[in-house]
Parts: sequence; C-alpha cells; structure tokens
Amino acid sequence: MIGTPGSGKTMLARRLPSILPPMTFEEALDTTKIHSISGLLKSGQSLLATRPFRSPHHTISDIALIGGGQTPRPGEVSLAHHGILFLDELPEFKRNALEVLRQPLENGQVTVSRAAATVAYPAQFVLVAAMNPCPCGYFGDSRHQCTCTPGMINRYRSRVSGPLMDRIDIHLDVPAVPYKDLSNDYSGEKSWLIRQRVTEARERQLRRFEGDKIFANGQMKTRHMKKHCTLTEDARTLLDAAMQKLGLSARAYSRILKVSRTIADLDRSDDIHNHHVAEAIQYRTLDRGQI
Ligand SMILES: [Zn+2]
Repeated sequence: MIGTPGSGKTMLARRLPSILPPMTFEEALDTTKIHSISGLLKSGQSLLATRPFRSPHHTISDIALIGGGQTPRPGEVSLAHHGILFLDELPEFKRNALEVLRQPLENGQVTVSRAAATVAYPAQFVLVAAMNPCPCGYFGDSRHQCTCTPGMINRYRSRVSGPLMDRIDIHLDVPAVPYKDLSNDYSGEKSWLIRQRVTEARERQLRRFEGDKIFANGQMKTRHMKKHCTLTEDARTLLDAAMQKLGLSARAYSRILKVSRTIADLDRSDDIHNHHVAEAIQYRTLDRGQI
C-alpha cells in the first residue's frame, strides 16, 4: 500500500484478518505449534483460534525476522504462519532483512542452518507492506507540498528492490481521505459480508485443487495455471497487450494471472474475463512506473 501519512494504510492492514477465511483445524494446529515453541501461548490457551497478525518494527534484526540464532528459534515470518505479516514503512527496513524475505515468500518456509543441524520452519503468510510515496510523504498529495527532490524520491523507492516488489501481487494506491468523507454516516460493506464472499472463493479453490497438493490460487505452478486459468479471448488479448506495453516480467505475468483467477473466483466465474484481468493489471502500479 502506497499512500501519504494518515491515509489509513495501517488501519486497513489491521482490519484484514477480519475478512480472511476462518482457520481450518490443521492450520490452527500448525500455527499453534510455532507459537508454543516460542513460548507465546497464553497460559491456559491450547489452540490459536484466529489467524496471527504480526507487525514487527523496521529496526528488527534479520534473525528476529527470519528465525535462527544460537539456539534456533522461529522468526516473525513463522509466527505469522497462516496469517499476516505487516511491514509498516517498508523502505526503512534494513536492506538485508528485505532480501532474506524472498526465501519464505517463494517457498513458504525458512531453513536455518547451524553447525549441528538444519531446521526448517514453516512460513506461509500474507505479506502486507505499507510505504509513503516519498521521504516527506506528500508526493502526489493535492493538499500538501512535497519537499523532496527527484533524486531523494528515487533513492527512497529503490531501497525496496525490484525482485521483492515483483513478488508482491497487489500494489495499491491508498489516497488520503478528506475529513468530510470520514465523518459521513456512510458505512461501507460489513466485514462479515466480505468474509462470506472470501470464504466462498476459498471453497471454490479447495474443490479446484483437490488431489493437487495445493489449496489456493497463490500456490499455482505453471501446470496448474494451464489447467485452471482459462481466459476468454478478450481477456487473453488484453493481457498480451498489457505485457507488451508495460514490459512486464514473466513473474509479473503469472502474478497477474493468479490474481485474475482469484478476482474471477470472488465473482463466482469459472472463466477469467476481460474485467477480471483489467482489475489485476491495475494492481501492478509500480510496474507501470507511477505512484
Ligand atoms: Zn516528498
């Protein structure tokens, strides 16, 4: 999420667990084990019932984030297993900490090697990150003057490497909300209603991948995408045109395809249509070089 300070990025991230599908019993067991060996279960608590939400500060060390140490311990990425890892002010994290995030994002686990043994901890989480558009925070804001030079803005953005950005499915602009809109009585769709839709989409995916050893669109490999991502002809033409025009990487292409699959699932559609692909392309803001 990219937005000026006070645009509600942190609030949005914290609300995310309220629309995620409930944990299955197996997921709850997995997550509970990690919290248990880390001594984080409250006394009397036998099973974690809600998906974890972890939000480490940007000063965190690599080891605390990824896991390891003299006596190997799970890091934040494993404590967030089956839940959310929220990194606020992403460019402020140490470069190395962001680089080591790539392994769990690719494999869903981290391997910690010590002289005596190698330990693998599960680390399948939804990464949510927030950043300002520039160091002062007000680039593109109509009500404040940005005081940064183009060089400062470039340096700030380049702290988050292309390969990490490539692994993030959805880049979202979060514009500042004028006070009068916040104070209106209008209230959006309720979380439990959204959660119903999400749960239904997740059930479609569970049925789709029966016997495939995966359970969600995000885990699809090329062979799954060939089998399960049928694009209408319009949608295919749009995606090909976007690839050419925006010069997207092969990795970005498969991200768009998987996100389109999910948008179609939320729309209860077996085929992936034009508007599903169009929405998924919208979420590649940073590939388009605009913020
Ligand atoms: Zn600025």
